[in-house]
Amino acid sequence: MACPITIYKNDKLLFEATNIQEAARFLADHLNTTKNKCYDPIERGYVYNIPYYVNEDEYHFIAPEKIAINRRKELEEKGHHNARRVWLVPANPKEYDLASAFSQYDTLDWKRSYHYENGDILFLYVSSGIQKVRYKVEVIKGLVPSSNVMHNKTFWEDEEKFNQSIEWNWTRVRLVDVVDTAELSLSKLREHGLKGNIQGSMKLTGELQDYIMSFFKSDLTKGYYPDEVPKTLEEGNHKTITVNVYERNPIARKQCIDHYGVQCQVCNLHLEDTYGEVGKDFIHVHHIIPLHKIQQGYFVNPITDLIPVCPNCHAMLHRKENGLYLSIEQLRERVLNCKN
Ligand SMILES: [Zn+2]
Ligand SMILES: [Zn+2]
Repeated sequence: MACPITIYKNDKLLFEATNIQEAARFLADHLNTTKNKCYDPIERGYVYNIPYYVNEDEYHFIAPEKIAINRRKELEEKGHHNARRVWLVPANPKEYDLASAFSQYDTLDWKRSYHYENGDILFLYVSSGIQKVRYKVEVIKGLVPSSNVMHNKTFWEDEEKFNQSIEWNWTRVRLVDVVDTAELSLSKLREHGLKGNIQGSMKLTGELQDYIMSFFKSDLTKGYYPDEVPKTLEEGNHKTITVNVYERNPIARKQCIDHYGVQCQVCNLHLEDTYGEVGKDFIHVHHIIPLHKIQQGYFVNPITDLIPVCPNCHAMLHRKENGLYLSIEQLRERVLNCKN
């Protein structure tokens, strides 16, 4: 299938190609290089949204989303050299309190010890004392411009390290999933292909990669909520994302559900009782702090700010009546009155 590719240079439209060959030919002429050298940056660029830097200039390559997704699948199934890479990355909890950081944020800036690029997957191995792979994160910005890096001293246990960290290169990652299993301990990893210790980032391949990946099945931040929920938010794009960030944060969600259980706190529906096995452990988590009260540096409290609700009640909480959202209490009353 033909794949139209639009080339942007420093956010300005540069060229519209009808296929990747034409795009590569154009870029080669433009940069005075060979077509072969242009092909990979264009492919990685449109598949994973990776910018291509030449001197001071930033190039972006955009293809229709469907085509990009299909190509991405193809690359990853074939293990193509343009497919995203998977890394095992050590994280020392004595230097940086990763668990607390991820319970507050679902994106973090992380030391770029290698040339991580958009779309790469990092499995974070928590060292000293814990010695398990616990987090799966996806790189959403390979290299964060130094003026944009979110330095957050709160989570640093080691002040000297924090001061050093200002000089590092940084990558922005999004939390995809968290697991805690003895199957991902250092000794188990060694049984499945790990040689020696995990002292620095290493690229994962083969058996060890398959083994680690098999424990991270669910993607808690994608495809979990019905599309209708974000679409009914009318606060504008930025705030829609903000509120979903809290509702989708796997650690905050877990703490909220550990406290309340999986029963809807509005209508008391317990999905497993109604739907059987398929409903087991399924519940949405709603963030109840009004958007306009969220300020910079806000920390979500999983018990007072989040509440488990069934998908129906959740959808109602995100709809307005006469221009206003209903509170949990108001909605509870509606359900009660209806049952009478
Ligand atoms: Zn409900
Ligand atoms: Zn909600």
